[in-house]
Amino acid sequence: MGELLDPTLDELATALREDPVQVPQMFGNGRTEEVREGLHEIVEEADFPVYVAMVPQVVDVTGEDAAREVATLLHQRLGGGDAVIAVHTREGEYLGTEVVSFGDAPGEELAGRAASENAPGGGANYGLSEPGLIARELTVLLRDGEIEPSEWASFAQQDPWRAPEDWHAGGDDGAGADGSTWVLALLFGAFAAGAAFVVSGVVADRLAAARRAALERGTAPEQPGPEDVRAEAELELEALATELAGALGEGGLGEQARVRVDGSYDTARTLLERTGTGRDDLGDLVGALVLARVARDEVARHVSGRGPRPGGQPWRPCFVDPRHGEGTRTRRVPVADRLLEVPACAACADAERLWPMEVAAGPLGRTRPWYEHDTVWSRAGYGAFVDDLWRPAADALRAGGVER
Ligand SMILES: [Zn+2]
Repeated sequence: MGELLDPTLDELATALREDPVQVPQMFGNGRTEEVREGLHEIVEEADFPVYVAMVPQVVDVTGEDAAREVATLLHQRLGGGDAVIAVHTREGEYLGTEVVSFGDAPGEELAGRAASENAPGGGANYGLSEPGLIARELTVLLRDGEIEPSEWASFAQQDPWRAPEDWHAGGDDGAGADGSTWVLALLFGAFAAGAAFVVSGVVADRLAAARRAALERGTAPEQPGPEDVRAEAELELEALATELAGALGEGGLGEQARVRVDGSYDTARTLLERTGTGRDDLGDLVGALVLARVARDEVARHVSGRGPRPGGQPWRPCFVDPRHGEGTRTRRVPVADRLLEVPACAACADAERLWPMEVAAGPLGRTRPWYEHDTVWSRAGYGAFVDDLWRPAADALRAGGVER
């Protein structure tokens, strides 16, 4: 049987009866055979029926909750009873994944509980490919929710479940050893998945059209322009200098904090020196503002006695629009044809409609969401994907300027 790219429910059910793991090449991250093998092992280990259906779309089931709906309809066609069905498919404008339990099979809420235990700060899916996400959730259910933290974490670290490493950030800043860069891998994996969709034609066009339509609806709320952002960054850096003097009086910062504060401060200053207040300076000015806030947060935590954040993580801005301030929560944001889980401010975390910061680039100065340009800021996600944003930014400055 060929690969199922646009099956009806009946075709999909028939295929799953023959082989309970349906993963086309386009979802295999270049390791499709390993992915299929790994999923087969999981399916065979379970003492209840498990099915995995990854398909770009299912005929007539493409609404916002399509993955769950497909699982439920497949369950009926596969004879009902105890079962777990994992579905990755088109949901409205994007692709979504659901692992759904039926009958007396272990409840799917166990996967959510394992995620909140193992990633209390959010970001549970960072670094995982979509098949990896399915493999991990199924494994949690196989273990009745009793999964060792090391096993849980291993999925985002090991082939074939982690996001493809070929898409890691360039640069020699050592970020490759740092867990958060897996998100970056996922981000660029998203573009790879997008490329696969071009091959599959129709779906890509529909996704792109829907996405454009979503971005064109309504008028964006007023946001600070380049001049305001520059002024704000200057104020933040002045405040930082004062606070830093106070912190030094109290015995100084720890080594890691000091390196982060100094690196962020110097890089922000350099950025401000090299930019003006033009439209095409906005991206870099926001970079300076974010760096200043990273440094201030580090100092403030020290002065207040709160100490570093868990795992030495930095302050991270709202991914949707870094001008919003801290990304205290997470949400899934459409980037290319995928949804990425990223830090978001409270307003954006709850908002139905997102207004990503738009920046101008290219000869015509066309504006697009900042993460659609190829810049050091999109590669580092303004800190969503790296722990030390100043490092890649400083590298880019040394290499002749921050790319636009
Ligand atoms: Zn926001």
